[in-house]
Parts: sequence; structure tokens; C-alpha cells
Amino acid sequence: MQEVPLMKTQGYVDGRWCGSDDGRTFGVTNPATGETIADVPRMGASETRRAIEAADKALPAWRSLPAKDRGKIVRRWYELIVERTDDLARIMTLEQGKPLAEARGEIALGAAYVEWNAEEAKRVYGDVIPTLGSDRRMVVVKAPIGVCVGITPWNFPHAMVTRKASPALAAGCTFVLKPAEATPLSALALAALAEEAGFPPGVFNIVTGDESDAPEIGREMTANPIVRKLGFTGSTQVGKLLMEQCAATVKKVSLELGGNAPFIVFDDADVDAAVSGALAAKFRNAGQVCISPNRLYVQAGVHDAFVAKLGERVAKIRVGNGLEDGSQMGPLIEEQGFSKVLAHVEDARKRGAKVVTGGSPHKLGGTFFDPTVLTGVTADMLISNEETFGPVAGIASFDTEANAIAMANDTVFGLAGYFYTRDIGRAWRVAEALETGMVGINTPLIANEAMPFGGIKQSGIGREGSKYGLEEWMEIRYFCFGGIDK
Ligand code: ADP
Repeated sequence: MQEVPLMKTQGYVDGRWCGSDDGRTFGVTNPATGETIADVPRMGASETRRAIEAADKALPAWRSLPAKDRGKIVRRWYELIVERTDDLARIMTLEQGKPLAEARGEIALGAAYVEWNAEEAKRVYGDVIPTLGSDRRMVVVKAPIGVCVGITPWNFPHAMVTRKASPALAAGCTFVLKPAEATPLSALALAALAEEAGFPPGVFNIVTGDESDAPEIGREMTANPIVRKLGFTGSTQVGKLLMEQCAATVKKVSLELGGNAPFIVFDDADVDAAVSGALAAKFRNAGQVCISPNRLYVQAGVHDAFVAKLGERVAKIRVGNGLEDGSQMGPLIEEQGFSKVLAHVEDARKRGAKVVTGGSPHKLGGTFFDPTVLTGVTADMLISNEETFGPVAGIASFDTEANAIAMANDTVFGLAGYFYTRDIGRAWRVAEALETGMVGINTPLIANEAMPFGGIKQSGIGREGSKYGLEEWMEIRYFCFGGIDK
């Protein structure tokens, strides 16, 4: 196994690096080569319970620190993440597969959340409500919710962690994380930096487990009455299950679930900008992004020009091991995802879609897939109904604005939506009509720490980032002072 700086291979509980109780481990593999990079503990309910109890023990002191002091530690964490960007990015590329440049971008984004929340913590204001009677005064304060847990996915193994842990910690909560089994090393490296930043033992904990351990860890996290809140990013199916499990102890939940983003190009759009936007949004992280456009609707007047230009650019994407210079797209992270992409392309072809470019497994083998553009996509195809989570842009043509909106909204999901137009009236109209939590108008670059990231419909509950993000980890409390007249 390779020596990689900052690579930790143990769990982190109560300020100590530890293995599982029974010593069992599982392998983390590099999706570009199939090699095992590290062995990590297979933890279960008892280790998770211990982490939750450690977080509970650490809570009173952490919660009582002035926000400014907590913010300093969170900010130190941010500075260390930035200093160690290269090491963190390398670990991410090794376990996740995305090109190094993209990994660095994710570290910058993840760090920005930590910085933002370190600053926001000092600005959590309550309210004084004008009284309804001269003998009373009414005050609202915002308090940290308590012990929180997070369960994160593999597609953004760094930013999905910082997006949950940093607002929770800055707000005064303590935290237990279970990272995705495919990418625990990015999370563990964050714990090493948290330790260095000076978080007291028990404030930030990580339990690791294999795919088969996840239900047991999840059950303990959701059933344990000490835990007051769950933050989850992942599949809709698992999100629904966790929400159900949280009901028994009435825990607060934030869920960021699947998307099925529409990307609409109107006849009056800047077609070159739309092509660049589709390219950036669709093929980043090999399409394994919940806000990635999943359905491209292009108005008849610009359809052929858009397809020709996009096809030409997509054919030039350089696929390869993310550690190699010049790689622009890595492999899919696992066999299951690869098979899904292949099934979506085959189904679309069978039902009449045309392949403009790509359409097959990549010649590098493994889980590498050709960047693909399809036309003639129809509503009955798998690609229109399920999140493909791969490098496939499926394009359908449309005639009217109403028609495009109806197709865009014809889904249970509502995470992100994008459209391109130069008509200001249309820009407002369509933004309001799209049933998504986030809308990119003439841009795919919507995600940053200052905006509220999250979905509506079955894409989730709650927001990450912005001033709203911190509030997800706090509770409103109300004090009524009586007897003031006496
Ligand atoms: P994906 O399809 O992106 O892998 P999942 O929802 O399966 O999405 O995984 C997201 C996270 O949820 C991962 O950390 C995974 O281990 C975890 N997970 C999967 N199943 C469960 C479960 N039953 N209980 C708790 N966590 C789970």
C-alpha cells in the first residue's frame, strides 16, 4: 500500500484513532485501477453508540463556548484544509476517481463552507418581539440543537462532509459522521485536520463501515435518543428510510436526495454559452452529481446547432486516470453505477435514440465510460425517469415554452433546474414555473457556500450553505418574562 500524507485508516471517536471492536476491516479501492488503497475499520452499532455518547459528553462545554471562540477553532480547521489542499485532493482522486484539478476544486468549495460557517456563527441573532401586554416581554433565542449525526455519499467525499459538520460545529452542536464506504479516507483526513485545529475530544467523531454495516450504523444513529438531528445526502430510497427511522424519536432531519435536473435551451438563447454550460455541468465528476442536468430539452430552432456543437466538444473530453496530467474525466466509481449508465444508454437506443458521440464503455476498460451525447430522447426512456449519474447527455427537442415546462416538471424530483434564454420576461416566468429548489439561469455554476443548496418535492428537506444553512442545526427557543410591571 502506498504512503500518502494525511491518509488515516482508523475511525476517530472521542479524540482517539481506533479500529473496530472485533478488528475487522474493509478495503477502499481506487476506481481507476481496481487496486486496494487502504483498509478501514468495519464498525457497527456499539462503536456508533460510543461515538454518540462521546459527542454527548463533549456537548455542554462546546455549546457553552462563546460563538467567537468556537468560530476560531472552526476557522483554524478551514486554514488547515486550505494549506493541505494538495494532500486532500490526492486522497480524493485515489479513492473517488475524479481528476486532480476537480478534486482541488472540491476542496476549495468544501473549505469555503467551513470558512463561511466559522464567520456566521458569531452572527446568530435572536429577536425581541414587541409585547402584547405591559407586564410581559417576549424574547427569541437560537440554540444549538445538540448531538447531531451525518451520513454522506461518495460523489463529493469532502464537501458533503464540511457542508454538514461545519455548520453543526459552528452552531455549537457536536457531531458523529458516517462517510460513504467507497470514500472514507477524505473524511478521515478531515478529522486529522480537525484534531490539529483544536476541536476538543468528542466534538467531531467518525465511524466507518462497509456497505453491509451502513444499515446497522444508520439504525443506531436514528434510534439513539441522544441524537437530535440527522443530516443526510444520498439516494432518495435511503433518505426515506432514515426519515422513517427518525420518526420514532422525532429527530429533526435535513435530506439532500436524488435529482433529475432539466436543462432547457430556448430558441433565443446564446447557444455557445448553453453548450459550454451543458458541458461543464453534465460531465463534471463523470456526471456523478445530484444537480447534474439529466434531461436536456432544446427548442426546435436551435436544436441541430446545439447538438452539433455539444457533440464536437464532448468527443474531445480526455478520459483517464485522474492522477494523470491532462485527464478531464475519470472512471465511474463502481461497477453498479457503470451498469446503470450502460443500461440507460442501451434502453434509449432500443427506444429510438440516436448516438451523436460515445455510447459505449471506454477502451480503458474497468468502469470508464465514453462521454456520450444522445438525441431523440423521449419521456418513456429510463434516462428521462431515473438519475443516470453518468456522462450521458440525453437531448429531446421541444416546440413551446409551456411544453418545456410541463416536461421539466414531470418528475417527483425537484433539486436543480437550468435554462438558457436572453428574454428577461421568459427568464422570470420560467424560473418561477420550474419546480426545483435551485434554478440556474444562463449558468450552470450555482453551487457555493453563500447560497441555500437543497431541493423541493422528493429531492429533500432543508438547506446547506447561506444563513439558512446554519439555522438547520439550531432550534428556536422562546422566553416569556412576566411580572415586569411590579
Ligand atoms: P448512493 O447511491 O449515492 O451510494 P446511498 O443512499 O446508498 O447513495 O448512500 C449514501 C450514504 O448512505 C452512504 O454513506 C451509505 O453508506 C449510506 N447508507 C446506505 N444505506 C444505508 C442505511 N440503510 N442506513 C444508513 N445509511 C445508509
